[in-house]
Parts: sequence; structure tokens; C-alpha cells
Amino acid sequence: MSGRVIVVGSVNIDLVARVPHLPHPGETVTGGSYDRHHGGKGGNQAVAAARLRRPTLFIGALGDDAFEVEARRALVTERVDVSMVASLPGQPTGVALILFDANGENQIVVIPGANGAIEAGYVRDCLSRLGRLVGDVVLLCNEVPLHVVREALTCARAAGATTILNPAPATGIDRSIFSLADIVTPNRNELAMLLHTEARRTGRRTDASQEIPSRARLLLDPGPDGPGVRKAVIVTLGAAGVMVLEREGSGFGAAKPAVPAVPAVPAMPNPLVPLEPAAQAAPPDAGPGSNGVRVWEVPAERVSTVDSTGAGDAFNGALAAAIAEGRPLAEAVRRAVAAGALATTHVGAREGMPTAVELDEFIATR
Ligand code: ADP
Repeated sequence: MSGRVIVVGSVNIDLVARVPHLPHPGETVTGGSYDRHHGGKGGNQAVAAARLRRPTLFIGALGDDAFEVEARRALVTERVDVSMVASLPGQPTGVALILFDANGENQIVVIPGANGAIEAGYVRDCLSRLGRLVGDVVLLCNEVPLHVVREALTCARAAGATTILNPAPATGIDRSIFSLADIVTPNRNELAMLLHTEARRTGRRTDASQEIPSRARLLLDPGPDGPGVRKAVIVTLGAAGVMVLEREGSGFGAAKPAVPAVPAVPAMPNPLVPLEPAAQAAPPDAGPGSNGVRVWEVPAERVSTVDSTGAGDAFNGALAAAIAEGRPLAEAVRRAVAAGALATTHVGAREGMPTAVELDEFIATR
């Protein structure tokens, strides 16, 4: 199997100003420098996949302003197919206004513009024009409206694609949405938000002191109001790597996990001891005796990090690319972990996405 990566998501222009201090309400601060970057999780993830030489198509929306041309050109330069990127009349292209002070503290305002105005019907039409999507991977983030995310997941699944939901931001995502995805990739905070949303909807309390596998397992298991994530939950933990929970028989291939598995020990919640990433036990393998879920962790690659912005986008783009290449999940995760690490060795989000050559060379030296 070898397919495309189809990203449904957001594109922003990031306007970054460095200022002596962050302004108070009503205050004007004269800044020192100003940069413009291409951003938006969807655009970044598409570039991450395309740099790994996977045919990549982006479905999203830009405005009808000057930034539209720039944002489109930036994707084309990276060999992302933009034939399904709409230009919406009367809408601005999405913009992120980012202020950094001398200590690295920031203030960020995101104006979604066209990203917030894209319609579910448009995405449905695009996906249906692509026909059968068997072998393809459809990757979504949550920087487009929730009903668009839901529609895209539903259509992609019906067309036979593998679906990955990066629940970023996690606001508003409930079980009716994440259960449509084959793989869900929250970071630690997003996992907490997903469980919080569920607790509010169903009254099912979760214990924040439980270990990550126990908490992530709640997304995989059926809940009070529906089924769980279809195949795997992958929790990204920054410099601590990732925790993977994969349903046995998920169909992602039978390669051994990168880290050997050990028998599962049920997590004992201890409210007095917060979980430190470094203190996590060796990854348990739930095995056949543990309701058919394999659990393992992949430590982060050690690199000289200069800017961790975009690590999650690199991770998701690389994960989608590797799965579209037909790699088993364990190998796909390992490549994604390496891509996430490499992205942190450059300043900026999109700029730091590794190429196929860089990623292969890096992995070969490990
Ligand atoms: P997000 O940007 O969505 O919060 P993370 O920070 O968890 O995502 O990063 C995604 C992945 O990138 C991590 O699981 C890890 O594998 C890799 N990564 C992130 N930060 C670092 C780092 N400082 N060193 C090495 N790898 C990193």
C-alpha cells in the first residue's frame, strides 16, 4: 500500500513582533523587530508530509487578500497540491499576531478568517471528487470549524481512508468526533481537555493523577455515549517522547514496537505523586490478557533543541506520511518521533520540518 496524504486544515500567516515588553491594555509599545512566517497547523502538517516526499494534497481555505497569494505560493513551493484550496470572497486569510518580549514571554491572537469560514459542504465535495481513498491518509487538526472536522472524518472514512485526528486545539472535541478517527494524537494538555469535555458531557469523572496510559485508554474504550477511537491513541509528551495505545488487530502491521514491551501493570492512581515523564515505568504491553490493547512508549530523540514550535506538526505530518507509505505503526511512530525532534533544532515551525534525506540520515545514525 502506498498512498497520498490529504490534509484538511488551517493556513495562517504568522506576524511575529519582538517587543521590549508586552503591552498593557491601551498601551502602545514600539517594537524592535518583525518577521512574517507561514503557519497554521494544517499548512505545517502538509509541508511536513510533502518534505518527506509523500504526494500531499491540502484542502482548506484562504481569503481574498494579499496574503492569499503568498500563502498559496508557499505551499506550492513545498510541492503541496493546492488545487483544492478555496479563496473565499470577503474573508481575510487566517492570521496569527504573535508578540514576544525580551524574556520570551508571548501574547498570541489568532484571527481564523477563511479557516473559520470554510464550509462542510465544500470539504465533502472535495473528498468525493477524489473518489476512493483506500491507501490514503486523511489528517485533520481542529483549527477549522468542528462541523467541518466531523464531516471530513465521516467522508474520509466512508471512502476507505485511514484518518488521523490531531485534536489541536482540543476545545469542543467530544466522543462523537474522536470516535470517527482511526488514530488520535493529543499532547498531554489536549488529552486532559478531551477527558474534561467528556466528564462535562457524561458525568464520568477521570482522575488527573492517573498515569497517561490509563487516561488515554479512556479514549480507546467505549464511553457512556459511544464507541472509542477506532485503532490507536498516541499521546505526544514533548521531550519525553510518546505513549502509544494500539488496538490489537488494528491492521497497521505487526512490526515490533521500537521499545520492547513488558507485561501491563494496572495504573494505581496516587493523588499525592504527580506523574513525571522521566519516572514513567517501562512501556507495558497489554497483550491478549489486557482487552486487546498494546501499550508502548517511544522515548524522544536527544537533539539540541532551539525552538520546539511545530514539533507536533512535524510529528503528525511524518506519521501520516509513514502510514501512507504502508509502514507498520511502530515504525511510523518512530519516524514521527525523529521528525518531531529534528523540527526542534530549527527556529520557526514550518521552516524546521525535516526533508526525507535529513530524516533518513538521522534515523540511520541512531
Ligand atoms: P505539540 O507541539 O503538539 O505540543 P509535542 O511537544 O508533544 O507536540 O511534540 C511532538 C513530538 O515531537 C514529541 O512527542 C517528541 O517526540 C518530539 N519532540 C518535541 N519536543 C522535543 C524535544 N525538545 N526534543 C526531542 N523531541 C521532541
